[in-house]
Amino acid sequence: MEDERHIALRAIRDEVRNLTSSPLYQERVRNRVFPVIGEGNHYAAIMFIGEAPGRNEAATGRPFCGAAGKILDELLASIAVPRTDVYITNILKDRPPQNRDPLPDEIALYAPFLDRQINIIKPKIIATLGRFSMKYILEKFHAPEAVQTIGVLHGKIVDAEAPYGNIHIVPFYHPAVAVYNSDMKEALAKDFTVLKTLLT
Ligand code: URA
Repeated sequence: MEDERHIALRAIRDEVRNLTSSPLYQERVRNRVFPVIGEGNHYAAIMFIGEAPGRNEAATGRPFCGAAGKILDELLASIAVPRTDVYITNILKDRPPQNRDPLPDEIALYAPFLDRQINIIKPKIIATLGRFSMKYILEKFHAPEAVQTIGVLHGKIVDAEAPYGNIHIVPFYHPAVAVYNSDMKEALAKDFTVLKTLLT
């Protein structure tokens, strides 16, 4: 029998593939690129949520496979968590032109897919990468911390309640900030150790 999470996630994939109503769909067709739905373990304890696909991601259909992805891979390796154990996705499933910030309307259009991914995978830990996913997730789970900046909340554990049980939200800086900045990479690596404590 086919796994029901697999079936539900495949339905999301198909809907996003056919999301002709999205302004970013036109970009997808024009540039002959792909939507990026997410990848990883459908039973993951940790779900990583980035902002939107970049150039490499749209070219391949895989999340975090470019320079920021390499940093994410290093961070996962630093806490000995295999990438195949986690689930990785973004708020936006299509690449905004020139990697500009996601617009509020775009977040509103794509977030229901993310909401469904969360409810299917039921992660105990939601690790947000960057300020957009941090804000979206903290507001979604009615965390009072949503008013704080990422400078204050990075690496901190925010407890929240999901429809399927208690969860921990951990905001991180976006790995892209560490691509040319070794201090930020060190800060991210230090913050990532929090995940290890939550997994044990
Ligand atoms: N940046 C993101 O936010 N997501 C990706 O998938 C790649 C880069």
